[in-house]
Amino acid sequence: MTLRHRHKYIFVIGGVMSGIGKGITTASIGKILQGKGYRVNLMKVDPYLNVDAGTMNPTEHGETFVLNSGLETDQDMGNYERFLGVDAVTEDYVTSGMVYYNVLTRERALGYGGKCVEAMPDIVNEITDKITHAKRHGRSDVTVVEIGGTIGDYQNTLFIEAARVMKIEHPNDVVFVLVSYVPMPKSIGEMKTRPTRIAAQALNSYGVQADFIIARSDVVMDTKRREKLAAGCMIPPAHVISAPDVKSIYDVPLNFDKDHIGNLLLKHLGLSHKKNDLRDWQTFVHKKNRAKKEISIAIVGKYFDTGDFTLADSYISVIEAIKISAWTLGYTPKLTWLNAKHFEQDVSLLRKVGSFDGVIVPGGFGSSGVEGKIAVIKYVREHHIPFFGLCYGMQLAVVESARHILKWNDAHTTEIAKNTTHPVIDILPEQKELLKAGHYGATMRLGAYQANLQKGSIAARAYTTLKISERHRHRYEVNLDYISELERAGLVFSGRSPDGKLMEIVELPKSVHPFFLGTQFHPEFKARPTSPHPLFSAFIIAATKRRLKKTKSV
Ligand code: GLN
Repeated sequence: MTLRHRHKYIFVIGGVMSGIGKGITTASIGKILQGKGYRVNLMKVDPYLNVDAGTMNPTEHGETFVLNSGLETDQDMGNYERFLGVDAVTEDYVTSGMVYYNVLTRERALGYGGKCVEAMPDIVNEITDKITHAKRHGRSDVTVVEIGGTIGDYQNTLFIEAARVMKIEHPNDVVFVLVSYVPMPKSIGEMKTRPTRIAAQALNSYGVQADFIIARSDVVMDTKRREKLAAGCMIPPAHVISAPDVKSIYDVPLNFDKDHIGNLLLKHLGLSHKKNDLRDWQTFVHKKNRAKKEISIAIVGKYFDTGDFTLADSYISVIEAIKISAWTLGYTPKLTWLNAKHFEQDVSLLRKVGSFDGVIVPGGFGSSGVEGKIAVIKYVREHHIPFFGLCYGMQLAVVESARHILKWNDAHTTEIAKNTTHPVIDILPEQKELLKAGHYGATMRLGAYQANLQKGSIAARAYTTLKISERHRHRYEVNLDYISELERAGLVFSGRSPDGKLMEIVELPKSVHPFFLGTQFHPEFKARPTSPHPLFSAFIIAATKRRLKKTKSV
């Protein structure tokens, strides 16, 4: 008889400063433990008061990642899914806003039976309730929780308190991992451990002792520093894991494993390793490192304006989906950002678009850069350049065909032109009501929906199936009233909702264009290193063909 072990919890906390890779550390620990035969779920607890990440601007917070359930989350959840290859559920993502919202809603419904409702214990109980969800539902053996923010922040103290309470209740089942920064100032030329030691002490002041330290630094940490850090933070030297900068985030799990973090964590938690199998990951990393041939992809975006986050954060899942497919096919993608607004100011710039092997117009909202995107879509359609439109990119491809093939000059989406005589992209009546009432948060068409594909279409050939499920995040849809005319213009609606009323994929036949395809959903949310997304792969293949043709004709 095999003895089932008790559920285990690993809390990942950041020290010294933000942006040092807590999310990737969490994802990597999860991947390593998965490779050792355990079922893992990864959680992020985020300190901000927004109930979800849907109402935040991507230039300030990075991409909004959507789960199957439709929950709008932080981009870290995307990394979790990409590393684990397992779909996250709503309970895997927690914000302070969500916690307070639940507690206050329950209070309004007399759910606390007349008791005085307080941060301690009611908020803390709500947090632990979420954290133990996977255990209660038998979803995993180990829960790894990333606590957002940095030690010393005011906002994340209740999350740390919840973790502390769990440690007191289950001392052998809870581990704390401190991800900290070890700087090496140029003028000193030596790694300085003090900031991390202070972070560990700050954690002690909450009643929490770090069990492991992930020491982030430019280079590998030497033994002397490791011992000093270990002594200063009261842990064995082997529990200091050196995490120097690496070329790619996908190298991190293999790098961590060199310091045996997986086995050490399991030992600390009283578990044995059942196997040691990161083969799927190794195969992918191997392909990534061997991919030498270049492929040039342009992304026509709009989130270029200033903000805390860079462009790469605004479109992170799109970028990763491209890389994953390209590497798997033996290519290294060279990504170029094209600011859609520039094409509005200077149409001669369009010629530049011809130098790329493929062009992506990703999702977006609002009017900024829209005419530039439409101009690019016209150019790539007419010049047979592989094109992939994601959500807004698909909607604008429909607008472009309506304007330039059907000659409806004012065709538009009603998101921008409320009174156009040709609203080829329009809002559903139920969505209209929500907006009228000012209900913006979590009210778009969100999460996984099924679609049926047309036999023999580019989409069906790529997916090799006729039934798919993909994730959505939008309010507007292709207007059913115009379908037959758009089809007359040559567009093929090769993916539709099961009731046939919602257009999920549009494409041009191969006889007309080498690859021109747009999706109303966001395929990028389901691309994973161990299972590249079929549509991204089909797009990359088309781009490689264009490249081959270009090189032959030179
Ligand atoms: N703005 C469009 C809509 O709401 C597209 C959204 C998107 O690209 N995610 O329908």
